[in-house]
Amino acid sequence: MYGLKKDWNLEARPRVFCLDDYEGGAPRWCPGCGDSAVLGSVQRLCRDKQLAPEMTAVVSGIGCSSRFPHYMATYGFHSLHGRPLPVACGVRSRRPDLHLFVVTGDGDCCAIGTAHWIHAVRYNMKMTVMMFDNNIYGLTKKQTSPTTRQGRHSNVHPRGAPLSPLNPLATTISITNASFVAQTVDWDPVHLYQTLKKAHEHDGLAFVRILQRCPHFVAGIWDEFRHDPSKVLLLDHPDGIPADTTLKSIYKNRIEHDPRDMAQAQAIAWRDDVVPLGMLWWNPDAERYDKNSAWGLDMSTADRLEGIQSSMDRFLI
Ligand code: SF4
Repeated sequence: MYGLKKDWNLEARPRVFCLDDYEGGAPRWCPGCGDSAVLGSVQRLCRDKQLAPEMTAVVSGIGCSSRFPHYMATYGFHSLHGRPLPVACGVRSRRPDLHLFVVTGDGDCCAIGTAHWIHAVRYNMKMTVMMFDNNIYGLTKKQTSPTTRQGRHSNVHPRGAPLSPLNPLATTISITNASFVAQTVDWDPVHLYQTLKKAHEHDGLAFVRILQRCPHFVAGIWDEFRHDPSKVLLLDHPDGIPADTTLKSIYKNRIEHDPRDMAQAQAIAWRDDVVPLGMLWWNPDAERYDKNSAWGLDMSTADRLEGIQSSMDRFLI
């Protein structure tokens, strides 16, 4: 170009992201809250995958965990109670190029958001859904949630929750087009990270239930599983979450589970004597709404606009 020195290099340098690039506001969760561990894992995953912050979006509903987008230096949408999944489906419809994470809680997803949960799983659009399950409504101060264990005391059931809890794993597996269902825990950073990594790489909706500590309202609910690794059932399979030597050395109680085996996945999901860790169900061939050419969601924005224009032209003729 005229006037520029010849030795100038105008090519953009490759960008390298470090953890700081994903850190948003200072988290305001209680000390010891399991949400902080998940936040650290997601930021690490973004760094390791070198996801550009401006190409990453985190959508949440309402609840303690749903403050998540405020703590990420990416795009975020703190939506309405029970509504993160329809918002995320909207984001995915218009922006197939974004990396999309969804944060929801047991109250947000399994109570007010149940209908959206079922249909989003059936739509199977590509996103990583993290369901933080602490068995309680924390933000509104200790009410029974759909996953609260029977007999557990809360502010609405001082004599104990009267009903057996809903089973988020078994329910999700049974939904048409469910393609990825896994469980992990906030207190095992190795398994948590491996699970989120696998979920992010999945082509479709990856549903990850994360057993989460809430020391403020339900301290100690996971202690029997945290302190006794024999009460954890590690699911091992080449198509599942890789059980590396660290995990194998901690969890002696493990089984080979092919995540395409629906009957065994359901049987594992209903076990209440152990906490299963790993991938329960995987169906990479499940239909995807965002890959259905009839809806045009697999097209680029330019192609979609051209299609709309030609339809209008036909209509006007
Ligand atoms: Fe975490 Fe429970 Fe505190 Fe909410 S109330 S921030 S879930 S420890």
